[in-house]
Amino acid sequence: MQFDSGKELIQKCEKLKKSIAEITLMQEMEHYEATKKEIEKKIILMLKIMDKSSKEALSNPVLSLSGMIGGEAQMAWKYGKKKPMSGKFLMEAMAMALSTAEVNASMGRIVAAPTAGASGILPAALMALRNQMNLALKDLIPGFLTATGIGIIIGKHSTFSGAEGGCQAECGSAAAMTSAAIIALKGGTPKQCLDAASIALTNIMGLVCDSVAGLVEYPCALRNANGVVNSFTTADLVLAGITPLVSFDEVVEAMYKVGKSIPYTLRETGLGGVAATPTGCTIRKKVFGK
Ligand code: SF4
Repeated sequence: MQFDSGKELIQKCEKLKKSIAEITLMQEMEHYEATKKEIEKKIILMLKIMDKSSKEALSNPVLSLSGMIGGEAQMAWKYGKKKPMSGKFLMEAMAMALSTAEVNASMGRIVAAPTAGASGILPAALMALRNQMNLALKDLIPGFLTATGIGIIIGKHSTFSGAEGGCQAECGSAAAMTSAAIIALKGGTPKQCLDAASIALTNIMGLVCDSVAGLVEYPCALRNANGVVNSFTTADLVLAGITPLVSFDEVVEAMYKVGKSIPYTLRETGLGGVAATPTGCTIRKKVFGK
């Protein structure tokens, strides 16, 4: 059950009267020559890792190897109890995204979905929805598979690499995958999933990779918090009936072309953007010496 594009995926969903998650499951079974049970077992394993990483830094700061980040998840989580402007739900989701980012920056165990740098977005959204909708871990499988389906298409036609396409390729792809997953878990249609993926990716189009000292810490952690917000707000806009002008497939192609036109200084080299500010340079020297 291969699909090469969003258009093809929707056609398969309509023809077979199946969801994106079901079509993706069929393709995964075929690809890995595995049974449904075997695939679901692996997904549950990854969901358990996501669950742990999104909670690990909420009560105790997890310091990054360079010391650049650590403690932000706990601060956001605590602040979430004080009637934040963006609401408790989004604040807690941001805290969970920061938690996984902290765990990643300390070389802890995460699920790269789709990359380590952007590993906080999908788990935070899934676990926030789990709490909100009172779901069991296994109930998140359709969301995970929907995100996988979107990721497969991005991987075929574009890139997930910050070094190749900037942060839009990492956090943008993660937000697109996550927004589609949210729609799926909220009972939206396959077309709405792709619409959300299109908008979430468009929202972040052109975002450069300017990680300070070339380390996946800052601004990466904050961009994971921002990515989960992008995913939820986009999903809400789509569920409200708003549709994108440009299809998901075209946005994916555009993201790739934009990535190719981003100068190398802004693609994970630590030489541009916030990495090249006086503060960024001072930190770089402190971490790596002259
Ligand atoms: S800034 Fe660069 S390293 Fe950090 S998450 Fe984005 S793409 Fe990854």
